[in-house]
Amino acid sequence: MVSSLKIGSVMGIPIKLHVTFLLILPFIAFAFATSPPPLGFSNVPDIWIRIGLSLIGAILLFACVLIHELAHSYIAVHNGIKIGGITLFLFGGVSEMEDIPRNPAVEMFMAFVGPATSMVLGVIFAAIYFLVPGMKSDPYTGTMVALLAYMNIALAIFNILPAFPMDGGRVLRGFLAKRMPYIKATRIAVSVGKLFAYILALLGILTWPTGLWFIVIALFIYMAAGEEERSTTTSMTLEGIKVKDIMTTDVHTLDVGTTVAQAIDTMFRLKHLGYPVVEAGKMVGIVTLNDVSRVPVEARATTPVRDIMTRNVITLKPDDDAFTALQKLSTNKIGRLVVMDGGQMAGIVSRTDMLKALELYEVARAGVTSPNA
Ligand SMILES: [Zn+2]
Repeated sequence: MVSSLKIGSVMGIPIKLHVTFLLILPFIAFAFATSPPPLGFSNVPDIWIRIGLSLIGAILLFACVLIHELAHSYIAVHNGIKIGGITLFLFGGVSEMEDIPRNPAVEMFMAFVGPATSMVLGVIFAAIYFLVPGMKSDPYTGTMVALLAYMNIALAIFNILPAFPMDGGRVLRGFLAKRMPYIKATRIAVSVGKLFAYILALLGILTWPTGLWFIVIALFIYMAAGEEERSTTTSMTLEGIKVKDIMTTDVHTLDVGTTVAQAIDTMFRLKHLGYPVVEAGKMVGIVTLNDVSRVPVEARATTPVRDIMTRNVITLKPDDDAFTALQKLSTNKIGRLVVMDGGQMAGIVSRTDMLKALELYEVARAGVTSPNA
């Protein structure tokens, strides 16, 4: 299933809409349509104009979120950090960094420019509202400008909270990372994020039923904070480890003419669930348990794996970072990657290899870095 849709690109960075964004957009428009000015258009008499203005307001709000994300990306790109894309989703936007910035000062500045940009936008809209003659009394443009002023300032304040995944959490980590190891700084920033989540959830319970929203946001912050800790720990654990260090080198292959029944038999015998498929010594695809299980039992003895294999095999090089392998496994939602050295198949990295490597290196590193733990 495609979870996000590309709508264009800016500075060479693809801009995507996540499915949750398409769900929240009408919801925000609804909130604007039913709130009185300056937070909505509920006093606009014509229902279609009211709906139109509310939708435009919601779209403009997300345009402002996009500008906020572009500000992060701009600083990232200027500091040599690759941005894989910007995705707009339920609670705003996310810039997907391909590397974690290891320079705390850069990370702090990169995080800081987002809320700063939102604040500047908010102040500009507020200035237009208060300084342009006739704006305050205009129920259409005036309310729109006031709404955007409020929303951008709220976005700036919300994002400055020192809690992951808000920008303030990153500023806090950058600040701490100047004084202690990166992982420890991350752990502390994550704990602060979780503490915020608890406080917000408590607030939600106290103000029930309107507090439902606080609980939803609290849950989101809690999960995102945990995710940040996991991905940081993983990337630090795998630092310096190459694909060739963790791959399985004794690779069993299947010929294109192998039947599905024979392939299943091989899976039983060798206990591997995926095999590269070769034709005249060249890899032409990959076949997994998932592929063979879709073939009806009566057709298994006659169907060659050629007909059911995945032709578009995602490959790695032996010198790629292990973390890259992990990212490729999870972004493509697949179980294994084939390692190619020149034109030769050198090995396979499976999800299981990855987990084993993670456990091993975590233990090994713990022994080196924290003798008192
Ligand atoms: Zn931000």
